[in-house]
Amino acid sequence: MPTSQPDNKRPAIGRLRPLGAGLLIAALTTIAVGALYVRLGPAWPYRILPLVPRGIVIHHSATDTNVGLGVDAAFLDRVHKSRGWGLRYGQRVYHIGYHYVILLDGTVQVGRPEWMPGAHAAGYNHYLGICLIGDFSDHGAQTQHPTEAQLDALIKLTVKQMRRHSIPLSRLLRHCDLGATECPGAGVPWEQVLRRVQAGIDRS
Ligand SMILES: [Zn+2]
Repeated sequence: MPTSQPDNKRPAIGRLRPLGAGLLIAALTTIAVGALYVRLGPAWPYRILPLVPRGIVIHHSATDTNVGLGVDAAFLDRVHKSRGWGLRYGQRVYHIGYHYVILLDGTVQVGRPEWMPGAHAAGYNHYLGICLIGDFSDHGAQTQHPTEAQLDALIKLTVKQMRRHSIPLSRLLRHCDLGATECPGAGVPWEQVLRRVQAGIDRS
């Protein structure tokens, strides 16, 4: 019949329109994501959905404290760069795997931004990584310990982060609790740290 042809065509075009629109949206999305990746780097999604730290892992830098005065976040950034670690956001590449570094005098330096996953403990990079400068490995009578200023800063920073992100004490861990490493070393008075952090949480 003369009128049947246009009637048959209409549904076919109707089916093609959503397909075309879908392809257009997919293409625009790909271009937008590609542009964000090129401009901001692979860490850009974390600016939209920032990392919410699920726990905290404590490390040491395993650097001799006699030369430790020169060891800081910038130094560790260079060391981690040489290991090929790094995550770019914008113009900056964060090589340092830790989120915070605590110097001998108790100064807290920021490593990677908190919203970015770390590179400090395999399988636990969604935890915050805090690094105490020094080598607290077991050397018998020669074992070194964090300074009082370092411990005070560690307790303060840890309590603050645990409150902020609702992290329970059970998820405050040492690197050695997660794998075959001595880190942060037997010289870190862990029982004391846990006790003081718990006291800090209880006070809040
Ligand atoms: Zn470690």
